[in-house]
Parts: sequence; structure tokens; C-alpha cells
Amino acid sequence: MKTFADISLKPYNTFGIDSKVRRLIVFEPGDDIPPLEGNVLLLGGGSNVVFTKDYDGTVITLSHSSNQAIILSGNLVTAWGGMVMDDLVQWTLDNGLYGLENLSAIPGTVGASAVQNVGAYGAEAKDFIESVEAYDLQEHRMYTFSNADCHFAYRHSLFKEHPGRYLILRVTYRLCNEFLPNLSYKALENLPHSTAQQLRNAITDLRWSKLPRPEEHGSAGSFFKNPLVDEGTYTRIKAQYTDMPDAHKTNDEYKLSAGWLIDRAGWKGKTMGRAGVWPNNALVLYNTGACTGNEVVALAQAIVADVQTKFGITLEPEAIII
Ligand SMILES: Cc1cc2nc3c(=O)[nH]c(=O)nc-3n(C[C@H](O)[C@H](O)[C@H](O)COP(=O)(O)OP(=O)(O)OC[C@H]3O[C@@H](n4cnc5c(N)ncnc54)[C@H](O)[C@@H]3O)c2cc1C
Repeated sequence: MKTFADISLKPYNTFGIDSKVRRLIVFEPGDDIPPLEGNVLLLGGGSNVVFTKDYDGTVITLSHSSNQAIILSGNLVTAWGGMVMDDLVQWTLDNGLYGLENLSAIPGTVGASAVQNVGAYGAEAKDFIESVEAYDLQEHRMYTFSNADCHFAYRHSLFKEHPGRYLILRVTYRLCNEFLPNLSYKALENLPHSTAQQLRNAITDLRWSKLPRPEEHGSAGSFFKNPLVDEGTYTRIKAQYTDMPDAHKTNDEYKLSAGWLIDRAGWKGKTMGRAGVWPNNALVLYNTGACTGNEVVALAQAIVADVQTKFGITLEPEAIII
């Protein structure tokens, strides 16, 4: 365990925002977790957070050890919560275990993959998570949550219902011993997929053609969630905007493209202060240089108000504003 006092969080968030924290603790596998007083924020790779002020409390994170996954049995893999998720994806393919390749190149850690139920290209973490081991910082004991216990939904989990309570130390994924490519997402139809590695490489290239690379431009990836609406709302907007992409229907809900709504409202490529809307993907807000979290939030609020006026839809942030 390493402790740092009064340090900048700039290297700890992909938006590159220069907020400070009173105390930062980095845990290694096997460390005992001491009782913690005051405000506590759990942080992974900081790729889905926006700091709007200094954090007056303790930020806890797990070391990003790259080699912390083991095969429990046949197709069950357990990984350290601080492991970089994309390293895990590569590790599983190297070990002949498949399924996670569609989640290639999503920034962040294994622990956060369960918190956020990360998803991309027709796959979500919940499709593979068998169980989650977390330390309860309130009751000071370990819990093992089954997939059903985790309340997974679109970018949602039990862990989001109790922010700062459960420190996820390990996640177990149930994978497949055979490569059965999941090409259900339209953009994947024509990608090479003779091997899982080929599909992973193609998905990685596709992603980075649409997203800012964190080392070049700070962002949190998709800033807003795709809104879920009822049939009446979908039909109303579709009748007015015939160019709107067809919604993805699950149960009674229609998932609209937030990126399309923002683009259609005229925001793609626009900047406000030092925050901008990514020119290749209107769903992504980015740091044009030395931007503050408040500038990002001001831009997000302006977009939300405009989309509300034009389409009658309230966008919600996917990024966590602190
Ligand atoms: C360029 C870019 C592209 C992206 N593309 C996608 C995408 O395609 N799909 C997608 O779903 N997301 C995407 N994201 C968002 C981001 O990658 C995910 O939300 C990721 O899971 C965040 O991981 P993290 O480790 O950085 O978590 P953080 O941003 O540090 O934290 C996210 C949340 O998880 C909690 N948390 C983190 N670690 C732990 C832990 N060990 N225990 C308990 N709680 C914890 C935090 O408290 C916070 O609530 C993208 C982000 C970027 C920058």
C-alpha cells in the first residue's frame, strides 16, 4: 500500500483535469484494507470521471498490475480489480479463452468493468461476469456477489447504487473455450474475424478511428448515455426526423442514439471554453487543452438543454461528475 498527500489527480483521470486530493492510497494485491475516515472515492483508471473541484477526502485506487489474472478452472478466469481491462482481454485470447474480444480497447480497469457494466459492439461485461469479490468499506468484510446480485443493466450495477461502499478486488469471468465471433453489431459485419485476435485488432482500429486517444486528447469516452424511451416518444421523433437511425428495441424500451441527437442538434465539432465536442463522434466531449471540469460540465449542460428543446429528450451523463 502506498499513500500520497495533497497530490494532483491529473495523471489519474483520462480527461487530464488538474484537481488535487488530500490523500491518495494505492493498494496492491494482498494488502489489508485499513478503516478509512471521512469522504472516500474509489477510482480505477479515471476514464469515466470528471473532477470539477479538488477532492477533500481519500481517493482509493488499486495498482494497475498487468499480470494478475488466473484460470480458476476450464473457462473461469479471475482477475485483480486494478488490472487494465484491455490487458485482460489480450491475456484471455493468449490463453485460448474467448468472448471479451468485442470489449477490446475500452480504457479502464477490471473492477470498473463490473461497476459500469462496460459495453461495446454488441457485448456487455455482464454477459461474462460470473462473480465479483468486493471489500465492504462500511461493514469491513469481504462479499462475493453473483451475476444476479450485481443488478446489471445498461451502464448500471449494484455498485453504482452504493458509491464508495464496495471496493472491487477481483472479478471472475465465464468465457468460452471456442471462438464464436459475435458479429451482431452492424459495424462489425465486414471486419476480418478468422481468429479472435484478428477481430480484436480490427475492433481496436475501428474504435480509435472514432475516439480521441487519451494520450492525445483528454476525454471520458461517451459522455452521455443513449436515452431509453417508450414507443410513443420514438414514433413521434422518427416521424419528425426520418433520417434518425432505427432505435434498438429491448423489452418495451427503445434505445436512441445520443450521438445522433447531439449531432443533429448541431454540436459536432463545436467548442465552449476549452471543452469541445469530438469532430468524429458527437457523443464524446474532450479537453482541447488545460480545460477544467467546470468547462466540461458547462458544455454538457448546454447540450442537454438544446437536445431537450429540440427533441423533448433529457440526456443523462454516463461520465461521473465529482
Ligand atoms: C476514449 C474512451 C473510450 C471509452 N469507450 C467506452 C466504451 O466503448 N464502453 C464503455 O462502457 N465505456 C467506455 N468508456 C468509459 C470507461 O472506459 C469505462 O467506464 C471504464 O469502465 C472506466 O474504468 P476506470 O477503471 O477508468 O474507472 P473510473 O473512471 O476510475 O471509475 C468509474 C466508476 O467505477 C468505480 N470504480 C472504479 N474502480 C473500482 C473498484 N475497484 N471498486 C469499486 N468501484 C470502482 C468508480 O468509483 C466510478 O464510480 C470509454 C472511456 C474513454 C476515455
